[in-house]
Amino acid sequence: MIRKPKFVLKPFQEVLLGKGVCPGCMKPLSGAEIIVHDYKPGVDVLQCKCRRRFTHDKKKNRYKRLSLESEEALLTNRKK
Ligand SMILES: [Zn+2]
Repeated sequence: MIRKPKFVLKPFQEVLLGKGVCPGCMKPLSGAEIIVHDYKPGVDVLQCKCRRRFTHDKKKNRYKRLSLESEEALLTNRKK
């Protein structure tokens, strides 16, 4: 069983992500490393310097936290 962490600060995180800033370390995500290009069509996966991972929708220019499920799928795909 995977317990989902409670995001007490979720609205605040979303505000920061809306500004393109990492909620963990406050660095701009424009400087984050792209670890997977076009993970989904038009969506890259970024890894911040603090090792948090995000998706970046290039059309909408929107950042989201990479969900644990997506991260596991991503890592599985990368091993192939
Ligand atoms: Zn960060």
